[in-house]
Amino acid sequence: MMGMISALCLRDAFTQTARIVRLGYQGLLLGGGLAVLSSCASEAPNSYAAGVSIELSQDRAETISNVHYDLIFSIPSDVSEPVRGTAIISFILTRAGNVVLDFAQSPNHVLSVRANGGDAEYVVKDEHITIGNVPAGHASVEIEFVSGDRSLNRQAEFMYTLFVPDRARFTFPVFDQPNLKARYELALEIPADWRAVANGERLSREVDGERATVLFRETDFISSYLFSFTAGRFEVVEQEWNGRTMAMYHRETDEERVQRNSQDIFRLHHDAIAWMEDYTGIPYPFEKFEFVAMPSFQYGGMEHPGAILYRSEALFLDPTATQNMHLGRASLIAHETAHQWFGDLVTMEWFTDVWMKETFANFFAAKIVNPAFPEIDHDLRFLLAHYPAAYGVDRTAGSNPIRQPLANLNEAGTLYGAIIYEKAPIVIRQLERLIGAEALRDGLREYLSSYAYGNADWTDLITILNRQSEDDLVEWSRVWVDESGRPRIRSTLVTEEGLITQLVLEQEDPAGNGRYWNQRFDVHLGYRNGETHSLPAHLRGARVDVTGARGRPEPDFILANGAGVAYGSVRLDERSKMFLLDSLENIEQPLLRAVSWLTLWDAVLEGELQPTRFLALVQRVLPVESVEQNVALVLGYLETAYWKYVSASDRAGLAAGLEDMLWQQVEASVSVSERAAYFRAYRGIAITEGALERLYAVWLGDVTVRGLTLTERDLTTLSLELAVRGVDESEDIIRTQRERIENADRQAEFEFIMNAVSADGAARDDFFSRLADESNRERETWVLRGLQYLHHPIRAQNAERYLPVSLELLEDIQRTGDIFFPERWLRTTLSGHQSETAATIVREYLATHSELPARLRLKVLQAADSLFRAQRVVN
Ligand SMILES: [Zn+2]
Repeated sequence: MMGMISALCLRDAFTQTARIVRLGYQGLLLGGGLAVLSSCASEAPNSYAAGVSIELSQDRAETISNVHYDLIFSIPSDVSEPVRGTAIISFILTRAGNVVLDFAQSPNHVLSVRANGGDAEYVVKDEHITIGNVPAGHASVEIEFVSGDRSLNRQAEFMYTLFVPDRARFTFPVFDQPNLKARYELALEIPADWRAVANGERLSREVDGERATVLFRETDFISSYLFSFTAGRFEVVEQEWNGRTMAMYHRETDEERVQRNSQDIFRLHHDAIAWMEDYTGIPYPFEKFEFVAMPSFQYGGMEHPGAILYRSEALFLDPTATQNMHLGRASLIAHETAHQWFGDLVTMEWFTDVWMKETFANFFAAKIVNPAFPEIDHDLRFLLAHYPAAYGVDRTAGSNPIRQPLANLNEAGTLYGAIIYEKAPIVIRQLERLIGAEALRDGLREYLSSYAYGNADWTDLITILNRQSEDDLVEWSRVWVDESGRPRIRSTLVTEEGLITQLVLEQEDPAGNGRYWNQRFDVHLGYRNGETHSLPAHLRGARVDVTGARGRPEPDFILANGAGVAYGSVRLDERSKMFLLDSLENIEQPLLRAVSWLTLWDAVLEGELQPTRFLALVQRVLPVESVEQNVALVLGYLETAYWKYVSASDRAGLAAGLEDMLWQQVEASVSVSERAAYFRAYRGIAITEGALERLYAVWLGDVTVRGLTLTERDLTTLSLELAVRGVDESEDIIRTQRERIENADRQAEFEFIMNAVSADGAARDDFFSRLADESNRERETWVLRGLQYLHHPIRAQNAERYLPVSLELLEDIQRTGDIFFPERWLRTTLSGHQSETAATIVREYLATHSELPARLRLKVLQAADSLFRAQRVVN
């Protein structure tokens, strides 16, 4: 009986796998009770879910060490033929039993498996190859396999791997987790006219007819997501800097373009390496330094040790490139180079801490490149790049902490978002202010040298830094990193005969949990005559007395985040608020004006400043704002306030004045980019008859916008904007625009979207109902563009009927869509709504879907924030 149950159990495993090679097969069939039992029993603990779960990774980290991969890949030039390979994986196993490798392919991709030189018992199931009964001690597994193409990026003349975060397992059998670092020995068999680049140095290249075999030296200890190889037709440029030879591979055909850029590209790398060596006290940690300029690379760059990949367009700049583009390239090179130490040499234990490597790479990159661009206001750039986006999530009920638990590496994509990219850099800057630049550097040095070629997490760094700090960094980190949200900060002023006797700053936890955000920043006292005083403050408990303020004349306004450093919802006292509303344009420093706008916007969202009052300020002040970065910020606020936070009747009253101001700015702007920004805003808010007639004339070509060439894409958008407003000629406009578009892809996109703007309700219903079918959501950008018009504020009331189904589709969308799609679906769907009815639909959805996965629920709360807020703000 036992035997039978066990046999069933085994057969179960058989039926779910295509192949199994078995030693001692006879004995099992004969029903040797013990053997069969152990076979079944050992299967249970290894029935790991698909992906790489934290349980599996921890189990492996405890029992497996000293991993070494010997890999051979054969790469055909014909992309329709598969890549094949052999992996010999040796390691030390401290506990006899099953060994689970990650390989996310169907069983027919596994050609053979041998363990310790003999045939192996194995199962291919749920993206794993489980090898049975491996004895403790030195172990070696040899697998022949066929790779999947998913992370190989194969094209006609080249290919490259991109394994971050857990995609090595699509290509070869691997322990695909960052904390099982290994040495890799690689041989690539490639077309003879291809070159190859990998983490290790090239040892040899042997040509045999039309094929070549390239052998690479064994790598240092690296994580699986950092292992990489590239092969194809590439040109190579080498330069020697301070005794180090660096090589750049590229496919750029414009020789002049390569020549013009090469010197800068190598110099920037050299400077970044030198800076990092100096700061960390650790020489460049890998055996060689090469990089590849890849056409249409997915990201700006990827930090594979010794073999960085870049998007080609980001390295090779045109002679007309702007200052910002040069700064962008320098930052990118510094970022990827900094990763060689932070991320590659010392790697996070698990992707929970992926934010760390990204934030520190940016932190170093800024230090490396900023001094070379003295004409750029880096503080303003930092403020505008990070604070509005971070607040956009952190002020909502759906905010998430910087550091989030991760159950399975296949969900690593859901960790990314504004909190990691925008809030985390702010927090690291706070940390540096709190403990001092030198203490931070010393701590980072210790961290990097203690964990070199190994792994560590945030707790390890905080433990080191805590020894250097007077503050309790563990508590600091709990509030800033492990939890979400931001404090409310208030200032109270006491004066006597026009002089300050006391300035107190207080903080409060909006969630009511009594938390204190420990931070150092500068308070600004501002005066009508243009004078400002900056006073350091350290707010760590409930309140702090800013003693430096005593005896100074009573200011006309106080900005607690005057230096653009304080993080929180900073409340304005009445006097400051009135001053800014009357005189914001008289503040001289661009950074202080930007901070004023951020603070006033928070006041609008907190219901402490009427949106109509805010818009009146925008209308008056925008024409005299001279800094383009600030213009872009305020235009964004304008559109949001106008559509989301004022009533339809107020909007009708405000429209003409705002339209006039924006059009005047279109005509008055000096730079093309600013002119384009004003035109987009004008097009975005236009509702009066006069404005719509003007836009129609622009679309017809009867009126030109001086100094602005409208592309086909601009005219397409204009046609949709006119149609959604229901102008008389709508049908005609859409029909004509469709004929105007010549590119087949763009025409298909237009045809997909146009029903969403139709005046015919049945056509809009049809657009929406088709989205229930997964295959109609494949072109996600098309879907989002259509939804934006379907739920346009002008049509919002009518579109409320789509909300319940849109929400019901959410889980299906997460299952089938790209990692960013669920959030974008929600945000776009809710973007145009401000009514109580719409808010009630969302609340009911949340109330009746208690089973909704936690992270998805947060996304709903983030996206619905402006809708819920509109109930309090619109009057
Ligand atoms: Zn990075």
